[in-house]
Amino acid sequence: MRYSTAYIPTLKESPADAEVASHKLLLRAGMARRLTSGIYTYLPLGLRAIRNVETIIREEMEKAGFDELLMPMVQPADLWKESGRWVFYGKELLRFKDRNDRDYCLGPTHEEVITDLVRGEVRSYRQLPVRLYQIQSKFRDEVRPRFGLMRGREFVMKDGYSFDADDAGADESYKRMYEAYTAIFRRLGLRFRAVEADTGSIGGKFSHEFMVLADTGEDTICACTQCDYAANVERAEVLWKGEPCTDVCPAMICVDTPGAHTVDDVAAMLKVAPSRVIKTMIFVADGKPVAVLVRGDREVNDIKLKNLLKAQEVELAGPETVRAVTHAPVGFAGPAGLEIPVYADQELQGATDYVAGANKGDAHVMHLDLRRDAAVTAYADLRCITPDDACPRCGGRIELPKGIEVGHIFKLGLKYSEAMHAVFLDENGKERYMIMGCYGIGVSRVVAAAIEQNNDEHGIIFPLPLAPVQCILLCLDPGKEDVAARAEELYAHLQAAGLSVLLDDREERPGVKFKDADLLGAPMQLIVGGKGLARGVVECKDRRTGEKGELPLEGFADAFAAWADGVRRGWENSRG
Ligand code: ATP
Ligand code: MG
Repeated sequence: MRYSTAYIPTLKESPADAEVASHKLLLRAGMARRLTSGIYTYLPLGLRAIRNVETIIREEMEKAGFDELLMPMVQPADLWKESGRWVFYGKELLRFKDRNDRDYCLGPTHEEVITDLVRGEVRSYRQLPVRLYQIQSKFRDEVRPRFGLMRGREFVMKDGYSFDADDAGADESYKRMYEAYTAIFRRLGLRFRAVEADTGSIGGKFSHEFMVLADTGEDTICACTQCDYAANVERAEVLWKGEPCTDVCPAMICVDTPGAHTVDDVAAMLKVAPSRVIKTMIFVADGKPVAVLVRGDREVNDIKLKNLLKAQEVELAGPETVRAVTHAPVGFAGPAGLEIPVYADQELQGATDYVAGANKGDAHVMHLDLRRDAAVTAYADLRCITPDDACPRCGGRIELPKGIEVGHIFKLGLKYSEAMHAVFLDENGKERYMIMGCYGIGVSRVVAAAIEQNNDEHGIIFPLPLAPVQCILLCLDPGKEDVAARAEELYAHLQAAGLSVLLDDREERPGVKFKDADLLGAPMQLIVGGKGLARGVVECKDRRTGEKGELPLEGFADAFAAWADGVRRGWENSRG
């Protein structure tokens, strides 16, 4: 690739709407351009990085015994109605009609299409397992597309699916994907962790998310410092060893708390600790309002609520619902007198002498006793784990680092095969449902996550396996014939040696070239200038460490190979 003719529109400044490093750098380095909200064009260098990820994925999927296919992006609504997701997928599903007024959607994922394919073809247990995958653009009309390629509306995904005759087979498919994902993210040189993930309505332990560790991650991981337990906080169980409180307190009284609608406001006004306030949140679960109680210093975990209620959809109630249910504006809900189901976190068992909302504007109650003054439907683990909680497996100390979900593997069981009647005949000629699994990797998100983890104030520092170009060759003086000729010679040599190289042959000042080389993030830089050539050397720079050196023109091939090897080894060691 020659810089003078390549399409690499770098920017000096970060666009104002770019918040995280990867978003800024992908735009600044001329790798991606926004077309409209959450929809991007991958420019040549960005596309190369995506292709590099795809190559590694293809190699590992092949090893795991999965075959690649390519399904249509446009999917008929009928299949989604069969699975029930035409209703439940909600607004993320982009729906439209064709000229004959038939409903369609753009594929956000392909369980329906692949189940339809396989059920039409597979009759006997002898044809199982079926293990397939594709790499394709997906569309999800995300509520908040943000962070560039990290959460786009259109993005590249690898999605794999398995169909097995029995549980042992399904577990084997799952295990193969767990191992393949571990190999993929390791080869990509990312610092990552596989964590237990929520399995929602399907239940069971068979779901793992692969998280790239980064402070800008939207997910939080609960990781034990003493054992190998790691789970998404959405799922991490809170151990509660407390005893239900048996104290009694004075009669409940109502007090004025003008304008105090947050726990902190109320706690300060009534001079109690936030942990002595009961936070009452109104949710809507499958259309019905419910109240959830947690201590004022805790956060409700809506995934736990959803699982407890076996609901399809749980969301925070809007102001109108809150008013209808509590007869008060948002901020004054309390358990006493509520006429909807009330679910309380387990640690509130026997809670006595608490402050809570009075279900009346600008008022709270004091001396609330949950047993005496409210009707609690059930107590359960309903809050998010905190750093002060113990590891649910070993009781050890936990940490809560941030992560970016780059992959998700899931044992689906019979969810789709039952809904869509995907059956086969077993050894005894008996009809059975196929046992399914699905396995996703956010390919374009991987590129963003890698940049998030590998950058500095000068730009991107690409992990070697992902780098769109492995080496940038800077010709500092393209106007001088001998310098240009040398640069061309080295360019040809490096390409012949199998490297991907970008020759910066532009008529630009050296300062501009140095800056762009750092910004683009190729792991290796070679600098060809008149002064060096006069001494028979070219300069080399390791982008990751910033270390510079010189390579002799005489015996260049060996000297370069040895240096490149050092860069590679240093990079590998830095991954631990
Ligand atoms: P998230 O919780 O981040 O929305 P998800 O649980 O909806 O992810 P899956 O349905 O499991 O994601 O999709 C498989 C993979 O696709 C995810 O692990 C993630 O890497 C990627 N992915 C999902 N949504 C997006 C998006 N909007 N933009 C880019 N990649 C995405
Ligand atoms: Mg999502």
